[in-house]
Amino acid sequence: MAITIEQQVQLSSHTTMGVSAIAQYVARIDSVEVLAEAFAWAKKNKVAVLVLGGGSNVLLPSYYEGLVLLIGIKEKLIIHENEHTVELEIGAGENWHELVEWTVEKGWIGLENLALIPGSVGAAPIQNIGAYGVEVEEYITKVQYMHTESLELCWIDREECDFGYRNSIFKKELKAKAIIVKVRFKLPKDAQIKADYESLRHFLMHQGIDEPSQQQIFNAVIQVRQSRLPDTQTLGSCGSFFKNPLLPTEQVDRLKTHFPDVKTYPMPDGYTKVAAGWLIDKAVGKGFRKGQVGTYDQQALVIVHHGGANGDQVHEFADFVQSEVSDMFGISLEAEVQII
Ligand SMILES: Cc1cc2nc3c(=O)[nH]c(=O)nc-3n(C[C@H](O)[C@H](O)[C@H](O)COP(=O)(O)OP(=O)(O)OC[C@H]3O[C@@H](n4cnc5c(N)ncnc54)[C@H](O)[C@@H]3O)c2cc1C
Repeated sequence: MAITIEQQVQLSSHTTMGVSAIAQYVARIDSVEVLAEAFAWAKKNKVAVLVLGGGSNVLLPSYYEGLVLLIGIKEKLIIHENEHTVELEIGAGENWHELVEWTVEKGWIGLENLALIPGSVGAAPIQNIGAYGVEVEEYITKVQYMHTESLELCWIDREECDFGYRNSIFKKELKAKAIIVKVRFKLPKDAQIKADYESLRHFLMHQGIDEPSQQQIFNAVIQVRQSRLPDTQTLGSCGSFFKNPLLPTEQVDRLKTHFPDVKTYPMPDGYTKVAAGWLIDKAVGKGFRKGQVGTYDQQALVIVHHGGANGDQVHEFADFVQSEVSDMFGISLEAEVQII
C-alpha cells in the first residue's frame, strides 16, 4: 500500500472554523499500515506531523510547514453482545454523530446526549467530549493508538486514560505521542436515559414530554443545539472556544460579592466551575465583532469567523477576549480549542 503525499493543500474546508490554511504536505490515512508509512515518510524527510480528524476543535495557522494526516480509518464492529450490553469497536475516522445515530437506531443507550457534536470518533477521547450531562468517558472501555516514535499499536484501558473535564492522557503524557486508531465502547440496553440536564429538561417540558424515550432525547438534543450553536456550514466556529474555569469555591464566593448573578456550578472537593460564557458576555458581550472575527450573537463563549480571516486573526481575537476577562474578573481563561 503506497502512501500518496499531496503538496500545498488548502485545508479551510477540512476545519469548522474555515480559516484559510495551506499545508505543505497532506496524506489521507485509511489504515494503520498507511499511518505507519506516513510517519516513516515524515521521519525520512524530517518534517513535523499534525493529525486532523473533523477539524472542529483546532485553529490552524495560515501556513503549516509539515505533513498533515487526515484520519479516515473506518470500521464499525460489534465485538460482543448479550441481552444487557453491547460492545463496539469503532475506527477513529468514523463520524461521531453518525455513530450516535446508529446506536440510537439500535436502542443502545448512553450516547444520545452527545448527538450532533461535530468531529471524528478518534478525537472524542482526547478532550473527553461532553454535553447535556454526559461525558464520553462513561462509555469508553479501551482506546487503541499508534505510538508516534515506536509505531507500535497499543491498547489503553479507560482507567489509564486519566479522563477529566475536557481532558485526558492524550492532552498530557501522550500529547503528540499517540495517534488514536480505534475506540471501544460498552453501551447498556436497559439503562435509565439521562434527561435531567436543565436546558434539556426545560425543552422537553415545553414539548409536554414527561418521560422521554431515547429517541426523544436524541431529537431534543439536536433541536436545542441547532437553536444555540452556529451552523458551521455558514458561520465558522469551533463551538466553545474556552473551558469553563474551575476555581476554589472561596475565590468564587469573593467574586459573587461583586457579581452576585455570576453563573456557577458546584463541583466536588471545594471547587466551583464558573460559566466562561457568562464572564465573556459581561467583559466583551455577545455579537461583538472586530473585523471578520467576533463572539456569537447567542453565546459569547463561541468565537465565530465571518469569512476572510486567517488563524492569526482568530488567535488575536481570542487573546483580546482573555485579556478583557482577566482585567474585569482576574480570571485567566484557558482555550479548549487546540491552537496550532
Ligand atoms: C459547533 C460546535 C459544537 C461543539 N460542541 C461540543 C460539545 O458540545 N462538547 C464537546 O466536548 N466538544 C464540542 N465541540 C468540539 C469538537 O467537536 C470536539 O472536540 C471533537 O471531538 C473534535 O473532533 P475532531 O475530529 O473535529 O478533532 P480535530 O479538530 O480534527 O482535532 C482536535 C485535536 O485532536 C487531535 N486529533 C484528532 N484526531 C486524532 C487522532 N485520531 N489521534 C490523535 N490526535 C487526534 C488533533 O491533532 C487536534 O489537536 C464542538 C465544536 C463545534 C464546531
